[in-house]
Amino acid sequence: MERVKWEYEQSAVVATLKSSEATNNIVAWQRFLPSGPIALLPLDNNTCSLVWSTSHDHAEKLCKLPPQDFVYEVNNAFWQEYPQSNSIETLKELTQNFLDILSPEHSSTSAMQYPPTINSVEGAPLKFPLGLSHSNQYVRSRVAFIGDAVHRIHPLAGQGVNLGFRDVQGLLKVIENAKYNGQDAGSLSVLLGYESSRQLGNLPIVMAVDVLKRLYSSDFEPLVALRTIGSTIFNKLDPIKRRVIEQAGL
Ligand SMILES: Cc1cc2nc3c(=O)[nH]c(=O)nc-3n(C[C@H](O)[C@H](O)[C@H](O)COP(=O)(O)OP(=O)(O)OC[C@H]3O[C@@H](n4cnc5c(N)ncnc54)[C@H](O)[C@@H]3O)c2cc1C
Repeated sequence: MERVKWEYEQSAVVATLKSSEATNNIVAWQRFLPSGPIALLPLDNNTCSLVWSTSHDHAEKLCKLPPQDFVYEVNNAFWQEYPQSNSIETLKELTQNFLDILSPEHSSTSAMQYPPTINSVEGAPLKFPLGLSHSNQYVRSRVAFIGDAVHRIHPLAGQGVNLGFRDVQGLLKVIENAKYNGQDAGSLSVLLGYESSRQLGNLPIVMAVDVLKRLYSSDFEPLVALRTIGSTIFNKLDPIKRRVIEQAGL
């Protein structure tokens, strides 16, 4: 089947990590490093899943490290300070101050939270090449494809599985409707209903994740300024934040 696709020249290293102490581990952390995003996703009180997107060479090196060195690199990736452009820092402060004046009840004095410190890694880290693909067709007569078989996205938004779950919901819906109306559920005309509705749902997310990936990969100062203002405003505007969180869930 024809598809749009490109590679990101990045691999993601995945591993299961244990933090040094059990906490109320309910926050997912993601930091955008110059080489790509690193994310910790909570599994239980002291276990996290790591997704670290980086260059192929760096991913290869990380996977070959002894466990304690790997843990050191993960902690370092979250804590290391990078030189910041003064103008971008000033822009961020100005945006923050402006928003505090507009909406003082949501001022930015809330307590800072920090990612958990990692203590050990369970098993061997693995790496996967990253890319985007989207198939022009999801169906044939009596065949329907779901999930990564028809769309593959960068993991930075953690949306891959959700898109697949929504495909399942969409497919079930057209099959149920067809059965209810006495139609042949496997016929191309019925399955095309699934294809068009899911392409309408999937394509904007596939493209949005690609734009985010490019926006956060760039050190071109106007783009850095744009994403700094955007993320500061987004963080402040609870209704928009809630709406995006709802959309990101199922
Ligand atoms: C590094 C990384 C991190 C990710 N992080 C997240 C995240 O945080 N959140 C999120 O929502 N998504 C994430 N994703 C995306 C998510 O993993 C996928 O979207 C999801 O696994 C797709 O599920 P799937 O069942 O469609 O395909 P897959 O999980 O790829 O399952 C397909 C299965 O089919 C098997 N298979 C393939 N060919 C054949 C064959 N010919 N015969 C028999 N079996 C076959 C494969 O071995 C595989 O087990 C991530 C992806 C990567 C690569």
